[in-house]
Amino acid sequence: MISNTVIELKNINKTYPLGRENISALNDINLTVNKGDFLAITGASGSGKSTLMNILGFLDIQDSGDYLFLGENCKKYSDAELSNIRGRKIGFVFQSFHLLPNLTARQNVELPLIYNHISKKMRKNICEEALEKVGLTERGNHKPNQLSGGQKQRVAIARAMALSPSILLADEPTGNLDPISSEDVLNNLIKLNNDGTTIIMITHDKALAKKAKRHLQIQNGRIF
Ligand code: ADP
Ligand code: MG
Repeated sequence: MISNTVIELKNINKTYPLGRENISALNDINLTVNKGDFLAITGASGSGKSTLMNILGFLDIQDSGDYLFLGENCKKYSDAELSNIRGRKIGFVFQSFHLLPNLTARQNVELPLIYNHISKKMRKNICEEALEKVGLTERGNHKPNQLSGGQKQRVAIARAMALSPSILLADEPTGNLDPISSEDVLNNLIKLNNDGTTIIMITHDKALAKKAKRHLQIQNGRIF
């Protein structure tokens, strides 16, 4: 049977040392994300949002519990395998865009394709399609400093989507944007989700979170 589940977290715990004590950043997290989901997670500062995203994106490892990605327990993977899967199957969007300033929008989108040895012809097709999806065909030759905040984030989204990842992880994608650009970026995410992209988005903005298909809250490392 082909499973519809992209991510499954079972009893995930993560603590950090704080002086002589341990601080519990994630406390018995259980979460299932299916193909086509659009999950928004809100929570106060320090509630565990980034810790959760880091574990989901293989940038950190839980102390206990199981993380199943596309049905496979991540415990069986080596560091090299994890970074390979991360590069191919997980798209990241960050609050501060993380675009390379000396490259054009198109070249930024192309970068992960070059890393993954996609042929030049394929790269061109994929880049144009990705830029078109976020409405930036006309801005492909602009460098990041020639783009607005919302446009920069749309380039970052196009780059994250270039390899058609199994999941898009967005950590405060609208955190640096004004309300109108935030709405614009969210509408782009909604459109991608309507086309089948599975998305987990962290946000401070409950009004934006309500527009996702599911809205969960995290408080003191626990999900509600
Ligand atoms: P959020 O992203 O919701 O603001 P975090 O996941 O960054 O929250 O942090 C959750 C808790 O874990 C906080 O109490 C934070 O201080 C603590 N924490 C996060 N990262 C570290 C770390 N590298 N070392 C020690 N404590 C950390
Ligand atoms: Mg954070």
